Amino acid sequence: MALSNHNCDVLIAGGGPAGLATAIALRQQGAGVLVADSQRPPIDKPCGEGLMPDGLRALAQLGVPLDRGHGAEFAGICFVSGQSRVSADFPSGPGLGVRRTTLHQLLLDRASQLGVRFSWNTPLVVKPGLNEKPSLAAEPIAFRWLIGADGCSSRVRAWTGLEAVRQNLASRGSRRFGFRAHYRLASHSQPWPTHVEVHWGRLGQAYITPIGPDEICVSAMTRHPATRLTEILSAIPFLRDKLAAATPTTHERGALTLTRRLHRVTGGNIALIGDASGSVDAITGEGLALAFRQALLLADSLAAGSLALYQARHARILALPQRMAALLLLLDRHPRLRSGTLRVFAAHPALFRSLLAVHVGAGFGRGEPFIPGFSQPAKNSEVDLC
Ligand SMILES: Cc1cc2nc3c(=O)[nH]c(=O)nc-3n(C[C@H](O)[C@H](O)[C@H](O)COP(=O)(O)OP(=O)(O)OC[C@H]3O[C@@H](n4cnc5c(N)ncnc54)[C@H](O)[C@@H]3O)c2cc1C
Repeated sequence: MALSNHNCDVLIAGGGPAGLATAIALRQQGAGVLVADSQRPPIDKPCGEGLMPDGLRALAQLGVPLDRGHGAEFAGICFVSGQSRVSADFPSGPGLGVRRTTLHQLLLDRASQLGVRFSWNTPLVVKPGLNEKPSLAAEPIAFRWLIGADGCSSRVRAWTGLEAVRQNLASRGSRRFGFRAHYRLASHSQPWPTHVEVHWGRLGQAYITPIGPDEICVSAMTRHPATRLTEILSAIPFLRDKLAAATPTTHERGALTLTRRLHRVTGGNIALIGDASGSVDAITGEGLALAFRQALLLADSLAAGSLALYQARHARILALPQRMAALLLLLDRHPRLRSGTLRVFAAHPALFRSLLAVHVGAGFGRGEPFIPGFSQPAKNSEVDLC
């Protein structure tokens, strides 16, 4: 079928987690949706593969309920630096480590079930100048709304002129290089602890997410462009020793990670979502949860007939994780401040518990009601967006 037949209410450029979640949320509201991605599914990407409790709640609202059968639960977070170790549980149930390809397949299954249309292996091509219409496979495509879910280096963002960033404490010097690899634990070794462990070392931070009964995802971030995963891990004796007995099951993959906030995430009939719309450093483990919450908000906004609600509330979803990113990057840059802070947390565990509660949206200060009104099912299956 010619792609020109693919004219649609909503065209989503990018079928990663943000694009698929948006497609699901919009179909739940009755919109006709076409997703185009330059890759083929299931799409993999360097990621720590930890879903925070707020991300799991948003996924359940999208009709993608996940449980330990899809990966491995973790009860909370543990910070480790030198001799200091402090941990706390999430107040509102566990998070979940899920292999990125599994998550992508589950989102894809749900979107297909709802009748979303796809064009894989088809990059959306945009030429400079807003008068130049976007095209798919060399054919112009008509849409009422265009959603840029095309990741950190979004072409849609550049084309729409939404590149202007807000400089703030969180974004300053936040550019880092992130890596991930998977390991199978030796059968005789202890199972990995039930917390995601964040370790600080001389060359960067690493965190370990359990993703199955005997498999872990190791993810690391560094400011040094020439440094690779194994070097970061070698500089963290605890992890070096623990991983010596484990077997790598995937090759190391890397990607940029940064904290970015845009002045605007909408322009005309175009909206940005997920990493395209701003991002938080990977260490927060919140990138996916943010994308899912934004998807629900965007669908509510479009069902109301405009992008105004989305533009108004998007920043609130991003605000707190960005503050957390700023704090974690500060601790990364200043080892003495880090040791002092971890000592305080160790002496006052309730303080660390409260910080974690705020981080996952269960405590004071989230600043964003959890997508008001969305918990009510759509009254009818079709909302006319044209
Ligand atoms: C090392 C690392 C560790 C991380 N760990 C975690 C974690 O533990 N938990 C967490 O929640 N988040 C984590 N994140 C962040 C998380 O991976 C991102 O926030 C998430 O991938 C954003 O999803 P997205 O759909 O916006 O973008 P992406 O996943 O980048 O998807 C964008 C999609 O757009 C497609 N695309 C690009 N250009 C075009 C085009 N022109 N036309 C069509 N398609 C296009 C791409 O093929 C891709 O499929 C981590 C990130 C890194 C780098």
